[in-house]
Amino acid sequence: MQLEIGELQITTVPGGDFRLDGGAMFGVVPRPLWTKRSAPDEQNRIALATNCTLVRVDGLRVLIDTGYGTKLTEKERKVFATESDGGVVASLAAAGVRPEEIDVVVFSHLHFDHAGGGTVRSDSGRIVPTFPNARYCVQRKEWETATSGLSEWVTSYPPENFECLADTGQLELIDGDREIVPGVRVILTGGHSPGHQLVVLESEGQLGVYLGDICPTWNHLRQMWCMAYDAHVSEVRRKKPEILGWLADSSAWLLSDHDPQRPWVKIRRDGKREFVVVDGSERG
Ligand SMILES: [Zn+2]
Repeated sequence: MQLEIGELQITTVPGGDFRLDGGAMFGVVPRPLWTKRSAPDEQNRIALATNCTLVRVDGLRVLIDTGYGTKLTEKERKVFATESDGGVVASLAAAGVRPEEIDVVVFSHLHFDHAGGGTVRSDSGRIVPTFPNARYCVQRKEWETATSGLSEWVTSYPPENFECLADTGQLELIDGDREIVPGVRVILTGGHSPGHQLVVLESEGQLGVYLGDICPTWNHLRQMWCMAYDAHVSEVRRKKPEILGWLADSSAWLLSDHDPQRPWVKIRRDGKREFVVVDGSERG
């Protein structure tokens, strides 16, 4: 799937489908409400995608998020019902891009379904960066949280997904809002995780924003439809309507990390439902 935002060429490079518990994905929303929009399977799980996003501009290749990767155990693959033939690397190959050609990886945050594909187990069993020539951009706050060793964070951040990046010198820690390459910048939001960031794509007066897990699917546009996975749910509830209002008023493209049908849409304000989708593209 291709989208142009000014001079930026955007391609969805799926990291693989998976499933998570519907109750956890919709937090305080009563089950009769969310099941109308997202039908659960017999284990109460709902279908999700990992819409990793390739941005090409001025000969540079920027990859936003990397999916859950190929290092999950057999048991984890079953629990999450992962469906992936080679993950983001295979999708990049289909788009004509080799791992060595990625210049920058931007992690919205370091949870397993975003950072897992950034590293890979080599033939010798060692874990190495998937993209040998890329710098990996992550908020300092996210890195410090993920590596803190504090018991409340440990299960959210399996260290094999990012530990080796510090050793190879590819890690670039970011403090707050910053340009990554011309046309691509990040905005620190926190909320879903302490160092969660948005990726803003802007060129020739056109705007797109990769929302990460501030709004994981188009069924999460409403203020209170937040995840039980949100570390600071009140922050998400405060910031999400601000961000969505900005994007609705700018007629911007919204890029979703987990929506299984439409990786990007536009939205408008709605008196009753806060925000609704006005334009999208079906998944190819
Ligand atoms: Zn996620």
